[in-house]
Amino acid sequence: MFDKSIKAYEEAKCVIPGGVDSPVRAFSGALGTPPFIAKGEGSYLIDVDGNKYLDFIQSWGPLIFGHCDKDIENVVLETVKNGLSFGAPTELETQLASEIIDMYDNLDKVRFVSSGTEAVMSAIRLARGVTGRDDILKFEGCYHGHSDSLLVSAGSGMATFGAPSSPGVPADLTKHTLLAEFNNIAQLEKCFEQSSDIACIIVEPVAGNMGLVPASEEFLAKCRELCDKHGTMLIFDEVMSGFRASLTGASGIVETVPDIVTFGKVIGAGMPVGAFASRNEIMAQLSPEGKIYQAGTLSGNPVAMAAGLKSLQKIKADVTIYDRLNAKAVRLTTGLKEVATKNNIPLQVDTRGSMFGFFFNDTKPTNMKEVATSDFDRFAKFHHEMIKKGFYFACSQYETGFICDTMTNEEIDATIKAADEVMATL
Ligand SMILES: *Cc1c(COP(=O)(O)O)cnc(C)c1O
Repeated sequence: MFDKSIKAYEEAKCVIPGGVDSPVRAFSGALGTPPFIAKGEGSYLIDVDGNKYLDFIQSWGPLIFGHCDKDIENVVLETVKNGLSFGAPTELETQLASEIIDMYDNLDKVRFVSSGTEAVMSAIRLARGVTGRDDILKFEGCYHGHSDSLLVSAGSGMATFGAPSSPGVPADLTKHTLLAEFNNIAQLEKCFEQSSDIACIIVEPVAGNMGLVPASEEFLAKCRELCDKHGTMLIFDEVMSGFRASLTGASGIVETVPDIVTFGKVIGAGMPVGAFASRNEIMAQLSPEGKIYQAGTLSGNPVAMAAGLKSLQKIKADVTIYDRLNAKAVRLTTGLKEVATKNNIPLQVDTRGSMFGFFFNDTKPTNMKEVATSDFDRFAKFHHEMIKKGFYFACSQYETGFICDTMTNEEIDATIKAADEVMATL
């Protein structure tokens, strides 16, 4: 019953590399071919063969109200009528900026871009420009978009300057990127012994790109302490966790206060939006006020701003949404853990707000190396059987799952029941 998707995939592969515009969509870590999507409906995706799936991806995070939310849809349709783009300032940008910085004591100004990748790239330029330094420090397993200096992989174990993790990235462009293990304070300290030129630490405070692996409170506090001591900027990459992990992303969960925060995903509600924000004196160094150059033809696109603005207004009108979403995430992960245990399958689960993760692993992973010890074959089989039953989970253990507001307890319970049947066969 995947005939049309299989055909669509073959056709796509003739004209698009691998048939997809972002590698994860090709199901490389999963079995079978990716369903081609015809439309979304609340909690559900419907593919070109007419199969219907309960969607735990929600466009990889942006759709906190599910597909085709009427309020967001209406405001987008109204805004479109006034024109798609002007390349000139609009009041919508000011309104969305105000909604975001209203929530944070430490953020005074925000600038919009069109993707999370761009947001991080620009935040790093800002940190380098402000500090006058070149080196940056990132952690293994944290994903910050696909820009050159962030595509680095570990050298041989110890904290080290990274090597390019993709052909096409010159070593010259990654030689300023230090790489350390996530949640590893000793390696973090070692990086500051190795370099006195670190412009910024960039971290996903609730890492969602190696599965869901939250940073420990002590680890983030140590990041802050070292940044203060060495005049380094601390960037929280909240492209995923922003308005997902809580009303104020990681800031609602951990004590540590960053200097710069990047956003994406939820603040665009499904439209291409990213943003980075900081205090007045830092943001004032951006062009045209300051000398650090940053620009974008479609930045602050009115239709995208309108969608994001409506989404954040809806969230703020009903801030208990995160308790509701988390209750469902906990219901799901607790249920999955129970049926796994019943079937003698070791499973580790966690949630942060509307984000959830699970690993087929004996112990709970705290870094990339530990995540990599998970049972990927078992995951692939689980994923494939769940897809066949109409449950659309992220196609890799390196991804996080998302609950949306239209999901019901009955749907969660049906998911657990299906998982029980599948796990009995694993
Ligand atoms: C998704 C993501 C990005 C990249 O955003 P794009 O919009 O895909 O460019 C960056 N950082 C984090 C933490 C993300 O989850």
